[in-house]
Amino acid sequence: MEMPRPSEHVLGKKTRFISRLKTILADEHVISDVMETRVYECDALAAYACQPLCVVLPGTTEEVSAVLKICHEEGVPVVPRGSGTSLAGGALPTADSVVLGVSRMSDVLETDYDNRVIRVQTGRTNLSVTGAVDEDGFFYAPDPSSQLACAIAGNIAMNSGGAHCLKYGVTTNNLLGVTMVMMDGTVVEIGGAHMDAGGYDWLGLICGSEGQLGVVTEATLRILPKPEGARPVLIGYSSAEIAGACVSDIIKAGVLPVAIEYMDKRVIEVVEDYAKAGYPDCEALLIVEVEGSPEEIDEQLGVIKQIARTHDPVELREAQDADEAARIWLGRKSAFGAMGQINDYMCLDGTIPVSALPYVLRRIGELSDEYGLDVGNVFHAGDGNMHPLILFDANKPGDLETCEAMGAEILKLCVEAGGCLTGEHGVGIEKRELMTVQFNTADLEAQMKVKDVFDPAWLLNPAKVFPLSNSSDRRDTIRPAA
Ligand SMILES: Cc1cc2nc3c(=O)[nH]c(=O)nc-3n(C[C@H](O)[C@H](O)[C@H](O)COP(=O)(O)OP(=O)(O)OC[C@H]3O[C@@H](n4cnc5c(N)ncnc54)[C@H](O)[C@@H]3O)c2cc1C
Repeated sequence: MEMPRPSEHVLGKKTRFISRLKTILADEHVISDVMETRVYECDALAAYACQPLCVVLPGTTEEVSAVLKICHEEGVPVVPRGSGTSLAGGALPTADSVVLGVSRMSDVLETDYDNRVIRVQTGRTNLSVTGAVDEDGFFYAPDPSSQLACAIAGNIAMNSGGAHCLKYGVTTNNLLGVTMVMMDGTVVEIGGAHMDAGGYDWLGLICGSEGQLGVVTEATLRILPKPEGARPVLIGYSSAEIAGACVSDIIKAGVLPVAIEYMDKRVIEVVEDYAKAGYPDCEALLIVEVEGSPEEIDEQLGVIKQIARTHDPVELREAQDADEAARIWLGRKSAFGAMGQINDYMCLDGTIPVSALPYVLRRIGELSDEYGLDVGNVFHAGDGNMHPLILFDANKPGDLETCEAMGAEILKLCVEAGGCLTGEHGVGIEKRELMTVQFNTADLEAQMKVKDVFDPAWLLNPAKVFPLSNSSDRRDTIRPAA
């Protein structure tokens, strides 16, 4: 993975620069000792790591603003960081950048049940947002599998989704407002505690912008009353094609499950071994969950089971109680961890039209044979968000490169099938050079002009999202002011 050469000028003024940061933050919140910055050298795309210049951990929006002002004046790049769970290398530092972590900023600022909103500092973890309102019968809907660890900051930057987003939408559909600090330290308020805002949809632009436009420090999120109940059904099939056709038919029928999750045989076996979820022995497994009152659940599941039966399932099992439902979800939620026990893997993220599932799954199987690497498929089938897990051995010379080449083919396949390079993990460094598959030069130029407006010196989150060759002119304009 190519990264730009660090600026000698920035490296040369490290000591003086860090002293300046310490005039704003307490010594323990400016970390430059190599043993301590090691924690921040990569995110969950651990194949790539780089020690940053230093790490800062501000505690308030004002401190973020003061830090950014200094970095702007000094011409030092900044990598915003939530919890570092990005699978796309979105929070990977460069040697001449400051990692700005928001993990100390995790307070709930306001809870308003009348208007069903909560305002939090963005270092708060996803799951603890629900944790703050759970006892009062509310929840925050987007549920990435990493929700115990990942922060709202990263969720906003990546427009994260999760298993239950088929019904409730992803982060952008549950985000009402943000406080954001621009690279020059200016604090802006975007959106508010209500649906939509006047003027351009700035919030839509910020959500999913991967730390390219500003540092988001506070967020107003929609919270929802907890549903009366929920029940999953397991549906096993003898082939990926049949399971894909069933998903297509469920979506076509107009019922709206909260989740339709897919696992293939490779994943089912590994997960069963790990979580003892009671999954059947079959080629493809769907977990379909619906919510509502007992009557609503029965009615929706009635339609779903009827559709499932027309495809001749090898197993069709409805959860009989809360324990069985929890076990079914434990299996799915631990799938990534379980796969990690058998080998290194790269988790891809691409989106396709649901009707293309059978074709794309077949092609992934062919690519697996061609490249000689095993693939497990586990993904949000209801919205066509695929997560092929390519297994490889990081200690075997050449295996990572083969894995990346195969991953690139799969992502190109998603675009070819009418989909998109990313569903919820973002572009980061992982898909940066593949952006040209999806966008032509004019498209990329238009997107980079947006960054020009927010971050004219191109100091925020360097070398992510835009192919290096397309963005090199702009990056080269970075001029240290002091
Ligand atoms: C096991 C596992 C399972 C996962 N499952 C899912 C899943 O189901 N759905 C899903 O969508 N993702 C999933 N992910 C990916 C990851 O958890 C998400 O992308 C998450 O939103 C990242 O949050 P974070 O706080 O860890 O962000 P980080 O990794 O710290 O950063 C991610 C990006 O956000 C930017 N950023 C961070 N903070 C700010 C800020 N304050 N202002 C502006 N930009 C900022 C960073 O620069 C970077 O580009 C999974 C990851 C793992 C490891």
